[in-house]
Amino acid sequence: MFIDDNLFIIMTHSNNHTMPDDTIPYKIYVTEDEMPKQWYNIKVDMPTKPAPLVNPQTGKPVTFEELRTIFCDELARQELDETTRFIDIPQEILDFYKMYRPSPLVRAYCLEKKLGTPAHIYYKFEGNNTSGSHKLNSAIVQAYYAKQQGLKGVTTETGAGQWGTALSMACSYLEIDCQVYMVKSSYEQKPFRREVMRTYGANVTPSPSETTEVGRKINEEYPGTPGSLGCAISEAVEAATTQDGYRYVLGSVLSQVLLHQTVIGLECKIALDKYGVKPDIIIGCAGGGSNLGGLIAPFMGEKLRGEGDYRFIAVEPASCPTLTRGVYAYDYCDTGKVCPLQKMYTLGSGFMPAASHAGGLRYHGMSSILSEFYDEGLMEAVAVEQTEVFAAAKEFARVEGILPAPESSHAIKVAIDEALKCKETGEQKVILFGLTGTGYFDMYAYEMFNNGVMTDYIPTDEEIAESVAKLPQI
Ligand SMILES: *Cc1c(COP(=O)(O)O)cnc(C)c1O
Repeated sequence: MFIDDNLFIIMTHSNNHTMPDDTIPYKIYVTEDEMPKQWYNIKVDMPTKPAPLVNPQTGKPVTFEELRTIFCDELARQELDETTRFIDIPQEILDFYKMYRPSPLVRAYCLEKKLGTPAHIYYKFEGNNTSGSHKLNSAIVQAYYAKQQGLKGVTTETGAGQWGTALSMACSYLEIDCQVYMVKSSYEQKPFRREVMRTYGANVTPSPSETTEVGRKINEEYPGTPGSLGCAISEAVEAATTQDGYRYVLGSVLSQVLLHQTVIGLECKIALDKYGVKPDIIIGCAGGGSNLGGLIAPFMGEKLRGEGDYRFIAVEPASCPTLTRGVYAYDYCDTGKVCPLQKMYTLGSGFMPAASHAGGLRYHGMSSILSEFYDEGLMEAVAVEQTEVFAAAKEFARVEGILPAPESSHAIKVAIDEALKCKETGEQKVILFGLTGTGYFDMYAYEMFNNGVMTDYIPTDEEIAESVAKLPQI
């Protein structure tokens, strides 16, 4: 295959795995004592704040009173907070974090060597918990506040299954009910994820389903649809608002989620500071933007305050090119148009992305915070195709000993590209990327790639224009 041949030429063929002649250890840890005790609310340091969420009924900025009918009180408060720079992490959550954090920050010596690059590559690995991704960092917080408020349970959507898995784990730990609407294509393709959720006691329904009004409507309009995140969100919101003692929780996109995920970046920064390492380029995959936002937050904070400079790169799938080909406008966060409107980069809430293997990146919109960064030129974005992503995943897996999630591999692809640019120029840049999760439940996708039958799908300009034309007028 073309891609394999290409990488083959680029790679150096040394198999001599000797210890690197460098003082940085393979893994840089922070101690339990050094772990962050507060999340960082980056909105406080943004000169231009993200535009306010808007109530689709009134057309006015959404109020706390309105928001708390959908979300738990404390989470609604966090969503709207633009003034508290650091928010204390409750002790019970700190204790839960200690079960699987600090997450490893790894110097990718073996990858560097294989690429023959002078660049120094680091990755923050968030896949070392059963949910297999960073999503547990926010799931435990959202379940915690729901329990504190005396609720019976929470409802949610899940795309690839990582968020549903994380939330199931969090809810079972805190002993509250968990109802998951799982995008139908994933429900069918990923029975193992579904069973992990059920093992943790969650109730899992394929979406669009016949159990909600909006699900029935979508099934009628798009018969046989494999579903989408936006559509599953609508079902979960309806389920939350029609049952007593339930609230809806969301695994990405929202500012509150990005806030919780800052634990990734804060931990990373503490570790790098210990060794005096300063990244030049920070790369992450972007679905709704939570891992990337969390990873870059403390570094972006420095940039906003004029204390440091970094290049930030968001990597998205070419099949769902929200930042690179979307528009910056108010849109619905969900296909069913029940959530508040958010100003963000979007492909339109009706956009149905092709059934790619990076389910966690198939979302039409983007965090309003990251959207603002991108719009102001503070952050770059690239779109990559899935076959080149899997080629990068395979190269990474073979040298670094971790089988990466397809979503995470988007970041790997661009990290490798940047490292190879350094090889050409001889620059010794420091590259940091977020390795958000493992791909053990994605072996069907790896099988397609290994058999050479994986295809790329790039939406046409007409498809995007048609979807964007239906944006609400605000
Ligand atoms: C959900 C997910 C993503 C994308 O979500 P963000 O909110 O953009 O971070 C990336 N990687 C993995 C492994 C995921 O599960």
